[in-house]
Amino acid sequence: MSDKIYIRNLEVFGKHGVLPEENRLGQKFQINAVLYTHTREAGLKDDLTKTIHYGEVSHFMSGFMMEHTFQLIETAAEQMARAVLLRFPAMEKIRLEILKPWAPIGLPLESVSVEIERGWHQAFVAIGSNLGEREDYLEQGLKGLRSCEDCRVEQVSEIIATKPYGVTDQPDFLNGMVKLKTLLSPWELLRELNRIEQQAGRERKVHWGPRTLDLDIIFYDNCVIDTEELTIPHPDMHNRAFVLQPLAELAPYFRHPLLHKTASQMLAEL
Ligand code: ATP
Ligand code: CA
Ligand code: CA
Repeated sequence: MSDKIYIRNLEVFGKHGVLPEENRLGQKFQINAVLYTHTREAGLKDDLTKTIHYGEVSHFMSGFMMEHTFQLIETAAEQMARAVLLRFPAMEKIRLEILKPWAPIGLPLESVSVEIERGWHQAFVAIGSNLGEREDYLEQGLKGLRSCEDCRVEQVSEIIATKPYGVTDQPDFLNGMVKLKTLLSPWELLRELNRIEQQAGRERKVHWGPRTLDLDIIFYDNCVIDTEELTIPHPDMHNRAFVLQPLAELAPYFRHPLLHKTASQMLAEL
């Protein structure tokens, strides 16, 4: 449940457009924004430092529109939403509309606009290793996640040692769970995780075989995704103690969006 702060019809100057003269001369743009945050504490204490300062946000957006030049207002909106969310951590989500008055299309037209909604998503990522210096690989994995600009690691579970799953004649696993917030889409997050795995020297050989680092998306908000490339929630998580135990430590009451059971319930039923 979020509160909202509205910024309406903020006039800014920018040089965004596909035509060369638009990039040279520039023009006026208008911005509408809805900032999703929690204002309760500021409201009770009458304290500006407990909320998002709409003046600062407005100046930031105006500066951003002037300092960058994009061809598309789609790009201006995308980049600006990201920059604003990174700059103002108390903002959970932003709805952003960028209007371009008198867009040069050779017809009379008042304005065109693009409106997008972007924000932080909650993800749970399982982390595992059973090859070589396992602690070091887990550490590399965590470091990779922490240095991802579009992710905020919130909590890391205890690391537990477990017997291998599926293919059993291989070293024991170390497993843990990471709770994070991310601006990335599920597919972008998967690519980022693959990149971190590669950096830790992961080679894809045998399915369920030994690996230096394995990063799996267990949950992403309450999303249900079933494609060849990506399945969320992770399809086998409810059968794995090494997933459920660290998950139940971080989020005992998080409910599986398809099985409708909490993490602790799934662990107890195993
Ligand atoms: P398991 O998924 O049963 O734990 P694994 O982790 O050993 O097996 P990998 O070889 O690491 O499997 O990954 C195989 C493919 O799984 C990846 O290339 C990826 O595209 C796909 N995949 C599907 N859903 C997910 C998910 N939720 N998280 C991570 N990878 C996923
Ligand atoms: Ca896995
Ligand atoms: Ca995997």
